[in-house]
Amino acid sequence: MSDKKKKASKANEQSVGHSGYSIQPGKETILSGMQPTGALHIGNLEGALRNWVDLQDSYEMFCCIVDWHALTAEFKDTAGLKDRIYVMAVDWLASGLDPEKCAIFIQSEVRAHAELHLLLSMMISVPTLTRLPTYIEKKDEQGMDSYGFLGYPVLQAADILVYGAHKVPVGKDQSKHIWLANDLAKRFNHYYGPTLVEPSTLLTKIPLIPGTDGKKMSKSMDNHIAITASEEETSAKLKRMFTDPQKLRKNDPGRPEVCPVYKLHEVYSASENIAETIAPQCRSGELGCVDCKMRLAKNLNETLAPMREKRVEIEKNTGFIWDVLRDGAVKANERTEIVMDNVRSAMKMKYHD
Ligand code: SF4
Repeated sequence: MSDKKKKASKANEQSVGHSGYSIQPGKETILSGMQPTGALHIGNLEGALRNWVDLQDSYEMFCCIVDWHALTAEFKDTAGLKDRIYVMAVDWLASGLDPEKCAIFIQSEVRAHAELHLLLSMMISVPTLTRLPTYIEKKDEQGMDSYGFLGYPVLQAADILVYGAHKVPVGKDQSKHIWLANDLAKRFNHYYGPTLVEPSTLLTKIPLIPGTDGKKMSKSMDNHIAITASEEETSAKLKRMFTDPQKLRKNDPGRPEVCPVYKLHEVYSASENIAETIAPQCRSGELGCVDCKMRLAKNLNETLAPMREKRVEIEKNTGFIWDVLRDGAVKANERTEIVMDNVRSAMKMKYHD
């Protein structure tokens, strides 16, 4: 860690929140977030959640349901937002996130995200934002090329910096998102002195989870398998899943290396030593696709069973979910207040004692 980084980190560590909350010394901080899309699918589970669950023991972790981000696409219709937040929180808890170990909360219940977003937005030019790959890729999908959508990456940076997060767990393809947060922290520290922690990516090896059509799994493409799906629904979805297009009949030789079903076997049937069993049987034509898919369905359902059972238990107590989110917001507010106090002092904008 450079001297500047150490100073910024130290400035936050030394502070204590109004209710006595203090940053855990010696533990680095992680910020993770997801848009409230409702029930999660196995792509979300393997791509993010399992990793978060592993990290919660070693880091001070803040897990944020980013409802303000969701508004960039659907600001007119917010009626379903509360339900989607609730379902997502249930999935997070069922997958093993523990509110005793990490703060689980809703972004808009921690107003400091918005305050830091505003301050950081003064430090970046409009042309820089319009050159960002996400803006170029997604602007045509947006109903309106809004000011909020343009500033979305700055809000994302504020989400990270307002916790003094050292690391953000992402897959390799998302590491560019952290670049702006790091750049803005550097700019702030250059103008006002070492205050904000300059975050870095915590690169994680994410298994490839293809959708039932072989493309990236996504709810909007309706090619997903939801954690909440029943065993029957899961099996039915897998039955319709794309396979090697050259294997048309049961005894045709197949190519596991191009087959999305095989990719899921790699994740969910690892205990079967598939390279020695499924792969050669597919190549020789001994194994038909229907049987292969049903083997996968069995293994996938077995893997998801404990989570599905836990989900049902958690959902019996609606109040508990909202309590978790409220308590998480209290902790998050305490943490962000420490960082924002340092930010206001650094900017000479702390006008009263
Ligand atoms: S047998 Fe299995 S691995 Fe081979 S093409 Fe069919 S579904 Fe894919």
